Amino acid sequence: MSDISNPIFHDEAKAREWLEARLWANGPICPKCGTVDEATLMQGKSHRPGLYQCNACREPFTVTVGTLYERSKVPLHKWLAATHLMMASKKGMSALQIGRLLGLSKKTSWFLCHRIRESLRETDPGMLGGEGSTVEMDETYVGGLEKNKHRSKRKHKGTGGVGKEAVYALVDGESNGCVSIKNYEKFLNAFNNGEIKRLVVVASFSDGVSAARRSVSQS
Ligand SMILES: [Zn+2]
Repeated sequence: MSDISNPIFHDEAKAREWLEARLWANGPICPKCGTVDEATLMQGKSHRPGLYQCNACREPFTVTVGTLYERSKVPLHKWLAATHLMMASKKGMSALQIGRLLGLSKKTSWFLCHRIRESLRETDPGMLGGEGSTVEMDETYVGGLEKNKHRSKRKHKGTGGVGKEAVYALVDGESNGCVSIKNYEKFLNAFNNGEIKRLVVVASFSDGVSAARRSVSQS
């Protein structure tokens, strides 16, 4: 993730797969009804790549719904590259420079950088919490164990969380203790059963910078 040559910064399908793996560790989550891993990938040329349809409520959706990338005309891989460039340089890179590197107009690149900066600052999202409500949070790591990966893909940096991506989950409301998770699946199940009313999943780069957040609400 630390290298701009990473395909997720150049290839739209790779970028989408990267985001899906991070936001949907346990399969696609329907943004409308919250059902997990019960969606059908829409095949064929008439459908946008990565379009799913929920088997429960029939809502069509992609992984960008509910994230800052939703409905953007700028390809996802450029969003990810812009985030990376902003984070990778210690002094920060100007929107102008980023625009030149990614082939974006001045206006578009300014808009992108502004949105990304906003999303990174949102440690206190207004949509969570409120009077008399509790917000709980936990993090977990997704991705394969280093020892199970192909030799060429290992990071050779010890054990534990190495090579995995951190996923932070925030819960609004009574969680009945399921937030004290070691287990992401348990978390999603609780959401699915209606025990948790709102779930925010933040996908992060390995350096801990959030790249996208997704909020799902039970109606
Ligand atoms: Zn649904």
